[in-house]
Amino acid sequence: MIKEKKLVPLLSILLVLVLCVIGYEVFYLINDYQVNQDVEYVVGTDTFEVNTPITINDFKIQATNGTIVNSGYHFDTSTIGEKSFTLETKNKKGTSKKYVVTYKVVDTTAPTITNDTNMTFYVDTELDFYSLLHVSDNYDENVRFTINGNIDITTAGTYNLAAILVDSSNNKATIPLTITLLDKPQANEGNYVLEDGVITTSKGYQIEIVDHIAYINGVMIVNKSYPLPSDYAYGFHEDTQAAFDLMKLDAAALGLNLYNSSGYRTYNYQDYLYNNYCNLYGQTYADTISARPGHSEHQSGYALDLNTIKGSFANTDEGIWVNDNCYKYGFILRYPKDKTNETGYAYEPWHLRYVGIELATALYNDGDWLTVEDYFGITSEYPY
Ligand SMILES: [Zn+2]
Repeated sequence: MIKEKKLVPLLSILLVLVLCVIGYEVFYLINDYQVNQDVEYVVGTDTFEVNTPITINDFKIQATNGTIVNSGYHFDTSTIGEKSFTLETKNKKGTSKKYVVTYKVVDTTAPTITNDTNMTFYVDTELDFYSLLHVSDNYDENVRFTINGNIDITTAGTYNLAAILVDSSNNKATIPLTITLLDKPQANEGNYVLEDGVITTSKGYQIEIVDHIAYINGVMIVNKSYPLPSDYAYGFHEDTQAAFDLMKLDAAALGLNLYNSSGYRTYNYQDYLYNNYCNLYGQTYADTISARPGHSEHQSGYALDLNTIKGSFANTDEGIWVNDNCYKYGFILRYPKDKTNETGYAYEPWHLRYVGIELATALYNDGDWLTVEDYFGITSEYPY
């Protein structure tokens, strides 16, 4: 019976051991189950504005049972629509698992106008709002565009209009426009001067009139519509002289002889010249070949007549070279062939105007000369 008495504690010890092993196994299994569990996640934000750069952080993902891998993603927001990307997760054991996550790219931003919507023009200016207003949108290239309200371009006054802009996602903007039309300057007994102020041209350029002299982008404008005051007498401009000297030197190196046959002229000298032409040919014809006093570019100090003042100059070696190269020195052929309806003057292959290299290059237009009037959208017509 002693043997039986010893068996009880032995069995007890064995039972404890078995329970320990089972306990450990259960603990191990539960732990193993937990660390092997897949990552669970909730996407906080899945809608983004078009053309806005985003990162994985912008999705505001909440993860449990592991972590979200943070790098190596590329998100395309350049077009609207439904998109997807592969989300990489790592559970507590470090095992990687991938999921496809969808997101939306939308356009909720309305178009806008980036230039000044408060504009002043002379009456009878052709108003093409599609080119005058600079429409900008975060996504669309072709915004639908209508103008609400009425404007009578023949009558001076202030007009309140609105531009209605709608993009392809139907985002709509209503932008007020204030259009002021001024009467064209009127002649008053031969003493015609421009009123100071800012006027927008039909091509959207700003004419700034300062001390009765018109400028566009800093370039002095002198033609039949825009005269100089009678007392403007700066003389031949040093920029014109320097550009001419350089051009003359380069031409000489090619065996060409350029000379300035008429540069600066005073208001009074132009008055004398113009009246002579009127007496010789009558005013109508005189107006096509000679400027009225105040309207001559020669008074500006930026113009000069080269060599012989004859149409045949165009066919001389000098005339051909000047036509093709003067823009490199900042000169333009101010009165090109067949542009009388724009400049108000007949073809003058000898008359150059200094405007600086940038504008001269644009007007040279690869050999197909544009006029100042066409380029800036201005007239050249005597108002009297
Ligand atoms: Zn001239």
